[in-house]
Amino acid sequence: MINEGQRQPVRIARFSIDGNVGFGVVEDDALDVIKGHPFAEFERSGQKVPLDKVRLLPPVLPNKVVGVGRNYAEHAAELGNAVPDVPVTFFKPSTSVIGPGDPIAYPSFSQEVHHEAELAVVIGRMCREVPRERVKDVILGYTCANDVTARDVQQREKQWARAKGFDGSCPLGPWVETELDPADLTIQCTVNGEQRQLGRTSDMVRPIEDLIVHITEAMTLLPGDVILTGTPAGVGPLNVGDEVAVTIEGIGTLTNKVIKRG
Ligand code: MG
Repeated sequence: MINEGQRQPVRIARFSIDGNVGFGVVEDDALDVIKGHPFAEFERSGQKVPLDKVRLLPPVLPNKVVGVGRNYAEHAAELGNAVPDVPVTFFKPSTSVIGPGDPIAYPSFSQEVHHEAELAVVIGRMCREVPRERVKDVILGYTCANDVTARDVQQREKQWARAKGFDGSCPLGPWVETELDPADLTIQCTVNGEQRQLGRTSDMVRPIEDLIVHITEAMTLLPGDVILTGTPAGVGPLNVGDEVAVTIEGIGTLTNKVIKRG
């Protein structure tokens, strides 16, 4: 029996095994392989694959990632910025996306790369000019993101395409949680196990509804597109060899290691 108000988590992962790529629903230590894809009604096949036998991939392949800057007041203040009157938006290209466990290659043109732990919203259907009351209908679910940023480059270049768009600058994962109320979740970032960022999604200046109304006023979002909702205070440098982990309550942990660009 389903308890009113109590949701069962549904976690959809994208994975590869023996050269095959698919989607599966996470069940304890296995994946129940999905027939079809998660953007439509889907069936579980009942075919189980052990989680430790697969490679988890980025849970979606976005056509675009739309970032929102300065959406937590304390974080805006720590970098000497005011909370903007209108949300600051920017793009991260599809080529910036990497999955859980994939390495973040330190970009050659920066000496100061920062972590930014963020709640990522995954869009489930094509949409534009979404009214506030319809926003929940266009969301597939939520995952963890790291809006990795070349801070020095961001400060000296007027547009952030290079600073926030370099290869590997958008780790996403480990899966999409589709049954989650995102209003008040803890969001945390550790580097080598040491806590760097800790916040709550309830501290967002503009909630997810406002962000999606604002973004879709301008552009069509496609299934698999991702909105990054901003980072709480505590951003700081990453160095080659570091292991950075973003953990969001009710979703899980996204871990990536920083390596020297080969
Ligand atoms: Mg950010």
